[in-house]
Amino acid sequence: MDHHARRDRLRRNLKAAGIDSLLVTDFANVTYLTGFTGDDSYLLVHRDGDLVLSDPRYTTQLEEQCPGVDLAIRPPGVTMLQAVVRAVRSVGCRRLGIEGDSMTVSLRDRIAEKLSKIGLAATSGLVERLRLLKDRFEVARLRTAIDQAERAFATLRGLLRPEMTEKQAADELEHQCRLFGAKDAAFPTIVATGPRAALPHATPTERCLGDEPFVLFDWGANEGLYRSDLTRVLVTGRISPKFERIYQVVLEAQRRAIAAIRPGVLAHDVDAVARSCIAEAGYGRRFRHGLGHGLGLLVHESPRLAVQSQTVLKAGMVVTVEPGVYLPGWGGVRIEDDVLVTRAGCEVLTHSPKRLDEMVCLMRGNP
Ligand code: ZN
Ligand code: ZN
Repeated sequence: MDHHARRDRLRRNLKAAGIDSLLVTDFANVTYLTGFTGDDSYLLVHRDGDLVLSDPRYTTQLEEQCPGVDLAIRPPGVTMLQAVVRAVRSVGCRRLGIEGDSMTVSLRDRIAEKLSKIGLAATSGLVERLRLLKDRFEVARLRTAIDQAERAFATLRGLLRPEMTEKQAADELEHQCRLFGAKDAAFPTIVATGPRAALPHATPTERCLGDEPFVLFDWGANEGLYRSDLTRVLVTGRISPKFERIYQVVLEAQRRAIAAIRPGVLAHDVDAVARSCIAEAGYGRRFRHGLGHGLGLLVHESPRLAVQSQTVLKAGMVVTVEPGVYLPGWGGVRIEDDVLVTRAGCEVLTHSPKRLDEMVCLMRGNP
């Protein structure tokens, strides 16, 4: 993993952005550029090198995770603002870029006040644009995060019981992710039975799995840096014709959208493929979120597959494809997979079963 090369690539883009240095304050961007996984640390990328601004809690971790990077460890009593001011002056910066999407207005104002002779320029997406295209190392780690999540789910299926609550199932699924090597869940797991599945972001409750005929799981693993994100709906009771129809519509919309993914295609066109498929079936107004999102260090990052998204897909992007149909009071179906855009088209990185007959989960009651 060559973080130095990433910083050099960013450095080459600074001039075009009208700046000679960039203060990276978004922690995920700091991680991407240095390999450092702690927080409360900034990175100053300047013409002649790079400087991580941090505090003594992180000295050892920084030395381990980003050997060779210059460190400015602020002693107790020196504020981050003072450290930033010193660092910017020490590298002879004349026009400093800041990350407009992450820096607070108050920090910007305080920096501007202290560095009145240096021009400040708000930038947007300079590092995020690099993060759009995953290299081989990143794809390998995403595969690991997916593998952990899928093994955890396969194991969980055998552990589900009718009297288990949504909350218990969510906790168990996250625990299984860790048992398969994950550092953590990629995000708070969603387990939603029956009508709760009509809420795209349902939080698990004390409802029991056995009380409803189906249950939606939206989960992922954080393998240490990279995160996976999947959704499956398990059938735990009698399948109604309505459920079967909606399930097949969502599955077909997802299949068609994935078939449309290849380099050169506009993100909103992929979204439109799924959206029109669901609309044809009469559920157009029941699919009220974007089709998918980029995946990487964060569970939601660029590019978005959405109505407004003008991004042109390129090989190396990784996106989720997650159409859904939600009927308030009844429930919802969403199916989510993680897809890598390749030079030839795309590769679905997730492999958890999703045919309706594969989703039947016969839970055993208490012996
Ligand atoms: Zn998800
Ligand atoms: Zn998602």
